[in-house]
Amino acid sequence: MIRQAVIMAGGLGSRLKDKTTLMPKGFIPIGNVPIVEQSVRKLFAAGIEEIIIGTGHCGEWYESLAAQYPGIILVKNERYAETGSMGTLACCAPLVWGDFLLLESDLVYDAIGLTVLINETHGDVLLASGSTASGDEVYLEPDTGGFLVRNSKNRADIPVLAGELVGISRLRKDTLGKMVAYMNAHLVDEPKLEYETAMSAVSAAQSARIFIRKIEYFLWREIDNASHLAMAEALYPRIQEAESLRQLRREVLLNPGPATTSDSVKYAQVCADICPRELEFGDVMEWITTELSLMVGKSGQIETVLFGGSGTAADEVMLSSCVPDTGKLLIIDNGAYGARLAKIASVYKLNFDALKSSGFMPLDVEAVKAKLLESAYTHCAIVYHETTTGLLNPVPELCRFCHDHGITTIVDAVSAFAAISIDMDRDCIDFMASTSNKNIQGMAGVAFVFCRKEALESIQSYPLRNYYLNLWDQYQYFKKTRQTRFTPPVQSLYALRQAIIETKLETIEKRYARYSACWEALVKAIKKLGLTMLVPEAAQSKLITAIIDPASPKYAFEDLHDCARQQGFTIYPGKLAEANTFRIANIGDIQPAEMAAFTTVLETYMRTL
Ligand code: PLP
Ligand code: MG
Ligand code: MG
Repeated sequence: MIRQAVIMAGGLGSRLKDKTTLMPKGFIPIGNVPIVEQSVRKLFAAGIEEIIIGTGHCGEWYESLAAQYPGIILVKNERYAETGSMGTLACCAPLVWGDFLLLESDLVYDAIGLTVLINETHGDVLLASGSTASGDEVYLEPDTGGFLVRNSKNRADIPVLAGELVGISRLRKDTLGKMVAYMNAHLVDEPKLEYETAMSAVSAAQSARIFIRKIEYFLWREIDNASHLAMAEALYPRIQEAESLRQLRREVLLNPGPATTSDSVKYAQVCADICPRELEFGDVMEWITTELSLMVGKSGQIETVLFGGSGTAADEVMLSSCVPDTGKLLIIDNGAYGARLAKIASVYKLNFDALKSSGFMPLDVEAVKAKLLESAYTHCAIVYHETTTGLLNPVPELCRFCHDHGITTIVDAVSAFAAISIDMDRDCIDFMASTSNKNIQGMAGVAFVFCRKEALESIQSYPLRNYYLNLWDQYQYFKKTRQTRFTPPVQSLYALRQAIIETKLETIEKRYARYSACWEALVKAIKKLGLTMLVPEAAQSKLITAIIDPASPKYAFEDLHDCARQQGFTIYPGKLAEANTFRIANIGDIQPAEMAAFTTVLETYMRTL
């Protein structure tokens, strides 16, 4: 798995003259987006977690890019004017910790090139193409096995031609170390060493053989001068077309999960087979648990335990594993999911009471507090966001009260996590359930339980009420072996990894702002159409909206559903006994403009009533 990339962006770009006197080459826009930003987006979409950019000339331009994309790390080559690209690469080398992709900053290219390198069996590989006739070709000479031995801009130097250097490679950390050593040994005779020369040197010396992977008709251009820029602009529509052919049909899911996902999350599932007991897959799962933990607490405070299963599995894990026989549990039931928690508790014959509250009016926290004290409860379980109606429960306030009274808190955050900002320590949540297919925007199949460390330690001796879903056993086994006890959903985990990369890039705060903007577009239409929302606005999550069925006798949910589905929108019926509603969720990889487009479908349907 390739997790890092390095972009060399220190160069002066002097051949582009006035265009790059005050700006690095990477910021040349094509199709209105700086080329280096396009490259950054392609790298993150290909599953790169961290991009190190080696800057130099006008390096401050990169600071705004790094501010926009968490996951970018900048390293300045202070001697950029006196060194070549290898000098910039050497500045980045200390931050590289594994296999990585190496790119030049002045490229436009078809993202398929990244996929090809990531899929390569060779650890060190350089991408080559057929003829570009660009006038600045770097020709590559192979040995008989197809490995790099020499590069030159002079075609006559290369008796056997493997192809032209593209400027995208995949290297092992070890190979980079050898290239840096080569540079240091040649500081005097080659002060402006280019990275491709260092690659040729280490490969020819056979200390690290670098394979040449040629794609004859690869769509790419490097931009070193005005004529290259013209060529790149001419090629750009073809790159866009090639990439658009790989896009999947757009279906906007306005049901409350599984939510709409990005194409990059979908494609993350398509990868080489792996046995999940290999160390490499252990790394993937460990990274997932660490990153999920960081989304809900400070470093080192939270443990995330993964299970194969849906959100209900995570709920069942918590209830069956986190309450001792001597415990007494209060379950708040103000919707279908609160009721489900009570159902699970009854299956396990826990000592519990369910406190029923309105499915659409805000929870009376004072009444809950009084109830908790009245009967000496040891545990309290609540749904953070009742997906039944869109009602948001005052979880931090209630859990803080529980904490002050020594009551362990168990929270179903299946539809809240990754949209609502949660800090389990600040909010006094001991155990919390969620799933891979809602606001985190991954695929269905992974259930997870977040645990505050001390709370988790305290459950060790609790009875084993089931086999598969035991929290302590699953946690212990993974800690010891970095494997799950049972077969994990491999492809869903790869998708979850990509979803986490994308969540970190967007940030949970901005994701909630985007969801809220979608919700506002919906609410505007609801009001315009004279429809009524079930839950008072102030108590809504802004993640899902329950709308009272239109009064017209002609109204049928199925008709509205079919009408919306034909236009690429999927909606969901209501789920509350107390009122007839339909529900529109606005979670997932969707944009406010798409919600606005849905509201015209709703409007059109409403006119038929
Ligand atoms: N809890 C809440 C709050 C939910 O919204 C859902 C599903 O929508 C679940 C639990 C159950 O999740 P699943 O259907 O993945 O089992
Ligand atoms: Mg060049
Ligand atoms: Mg160049």
